[in-house]
Amino acid sequence: MGSGSNPPDPGGDALDLFIIGGGINGCGIARDAAGRGLTVALAEMNDLGSATSSASTKLFHGGLRYLEYFEFRLVREALKEREVLLLAMPHIAWPMRFVLPLHQQMRFDSETPASRLLSLVMPWMKGRRPAWLIRLGLFLYDHMGQRRLLPPTSALDLRGRPEGEPLKQEFVRAYEYSDCWVQDSRLVVLNARGAADAGAKIMTRTRVTQAERGVTHWTIHTKSADGSVQTFRARCIVNAGGPWVSQVLTETLGIDSAEHIRLVRGSHIVVRKLYDHQKCYFLQGTDGRIIFLIPYEDDFTLIGTTDQDHAALDEKPTCSEAEADYLRTFASSYLRKPIAKEDIVWTYSGVRPLYDDGASSATAATREYVLSLDGNQAPLLSVFGGKITTHRKLAEAALAKIAPFFPTMGNAWTARAPLPGGDFPIDGAVALAAGICRDHPFVDEALARRLVRTYGTDARRILSGSKQASDLGEDFGAGITARELDWTIGREWVRNADDFLWRRTKLGLRMLPDQAQAIDDYIRHKCRAVTGGDATMSNSRSV
Ligand code: FAD
Repeated sequence: MGSGSNPPDPGGDALDLFIIGGGINGCGIARDAAGRGLTVALAEMNDLGSATSSASTKLFHGGLRYLEYFEFRLVREALKEREVLLLAMPHIAWPMRFVLPLHQQMRFDSETPASRLLSLVMPWMKGRRPAWLIRLGLFLYDHMGQRRLLPPTSALDLRGRPEGEPLKQEFVRAYEYSDCWVQDSRLVVLNARGAADAGAKIMTRTRVTQAERGVTHWTIHTKSADGSVQTFRARCIVNAGGPWVSQVLTETLGIDSAEHIRLVRGSHIVVRKLYDHQKCYFLQGTDGRIIFLIPYEDDFTLIGTTDQDHAALDEKPTCSEAEADYLRTFASSYLRKPIAKEDIVWTYSGVRPLYDDGASSATAATREYVLSLDGNQAPLLSVFGGKITTHRKLAEAALAKIAPFFPTMGNAWTARAPLPGGDFPIDGAVALAAGICRDHPFVDEALARRLVRTYGTDARRILSGSKQASDLGEDFGAGITARELDWTIGREWVRNADDFLWRRTKLGLRMLPDQAQAIDDYIRHKCRAVTGGDATMSNSRSV
């Protein structure tokens, strides 16, 4: 079945599962459940991945800093998961090396259990985070996660090396360790495609307005952006509302819950690229926090993140001037050439839906996820917290929780199943791009590479039959053609330029306003017949 278009309504038949929320957790659960034979529908009130799941730092990582909070279960699960995910999606995820420069002023967040323990046994350290402790952490990091593909930690002399070049001269020693990069919003949409390919009904721009619990089933009411309303019946609801999870529980489903969410905003800034090599930096601040510098979209460097309690759900998360200044100053304290305000080309911000464990600071709040099951009949499963790194394991855990209600449900299957377009070897992206250039000589290397990094083996389907550039239809600039837009409209639920330019791709970074407008006009014109031309153009370059 073609994704992006849905199977017919289930009519009077009740669904097994109705999922509220099309972020990574909702889409991951939808894919897993549909693949096990459950009948599934998912409603997302905006675009897929439009909330937290497109605003992350985009790392599949164990979370080195969580070791200081003794979150060993989470770190072990996430570390192990990195390689499983890399193998399933070699187009949108790849290994990265992280350079961690050492210096005397590296300090703990005073709240961490590791910091408290060290002050007890070595009070003279006065909150300093010594290099030997970092090495110990990296040793654990290397060995907790059954690493097979990713290279281990090594020590680095920064003098005379490209990794030392952008840094101030005082930084001479570093450790280098492995984690992975992932294009977060593509991860969401490819999970949704996987779900739809297995029969799930994926509805975007469709808000769940209310649901009533019956004896054996839920009745669920939705309202779409075009004003149409629908009613569904489902055996079980999964509340994967991310930052809205508590609101969905109390206001939409009318359920009292002891569990609460803590909204913690994280912002990033994007600047023109600061250095030429492909490694990231893990920088430690004197305030005990850490930030990353990451090569981004070929020509840029991504810097983040912050941890700020976020006051209200209805307040759109944006990177405040204070956060941007903090990130600039933090990064500049390491760099030979400081980052100026004018160097910032884009910012983005998201709200972490963290499980509220009562921690006093936003940085210290747990990153563990909690799955809460309510009801013996017509169950409701709510998802609190979670990382993009652990989305697949979270989906498995969610289905294990509801398995007693679905005795004929299939077994776990996603560990060895590629995401759409990911059916090629982990080191096969270069060969795939070369094959595309050979078979379609009018496609240059950079475009082939971008298409492979976006669509994987589906890039060949997008280009299929084309012999010259004009076969791909209108050219919108930055290598975007009508053929590509049509693919994302038909298969990836794209309904306006923002969906395409800021979530299916990050080509918004390269577009002039009139080019973006032409893309928006094209998409809306194409979609009008199907959707009634819903949704407005909202996000764009924020700086
Ligand atoms: P969301 O992505 O927020 O999805 C919830 C969806 O529910 C939303 O799209 C919303 O529109 C929808 N919804 C809500 N109510 C309704 C309703 N009534 N009807 C229909 N739809 C509804 N994790 C990592 O592993 N690595 C990282 O590097 C990383 N970095 C991060 C950096 C930052 C700054 C932040 C904020 C998070 C980071 N994370 C990272 C964590 C990760 O991004 C999140 O845990 C994850 O994206 C949460 O996904 P979700 O599906 O639960 O929530």
